[in-house]
Amino acid sequence: MDFHQLVEDRDFWLGGIKIEHYKGALGHSDADVLLHALCDAMLGAACLGDIGVHFPDTDASLKNIDSKILLAKTALLIKEKGYSVVNADTTLCLQAPKIKNYIPLMQEAIAGILSIEKDAISIKATTTEKMGFVGREEGLVAYATVLLKKN
Ligand SMILES: [Zn+2]
Repeated sequence: MDFHQLVEDRDFWLGGIKIEHYKGALGHSDADVLLHALCDAMLGAACLGDIGVHFPDTDASLKNIDSKILLAKTALLIKEKGYSVVNADTTLCLQAPKIKNYIPLMQEAIAGILSIEKDAISIKATTTEKMGFVGREEGLVAYATVLLKKN
């Protein structure tokens, strides 16, 4: 699970791709909430702590880093512990924009990094019916669950 604030004058990276929007997610890296939730779920399932332990926001070398690099590094960390990803289910909570058309591109980006089939990466999206910080377009949330196998 991950949260980021949405602010103006930031590129909006989501699921490994850049989306045209009037706001983007704020963070130390490119702030890709979906990839961060996925990394966190992978690390958690391998009992390797969380994303903050491995990629701290105090690390200057990670400033504005492409989160696809973090996902690749995470895949390597779980591989070193003898695991690989079988499949993943993710849910994005955001009010805007509509991301339906971007989902196949996100699946492709993620599956490519994890060396698995596109349809092993489920990406679902919901609004919060204009309620709360998500509904006010102040931020967004991503949830991820992964199944790992022991190699
Ligand atoms: Zn994050």
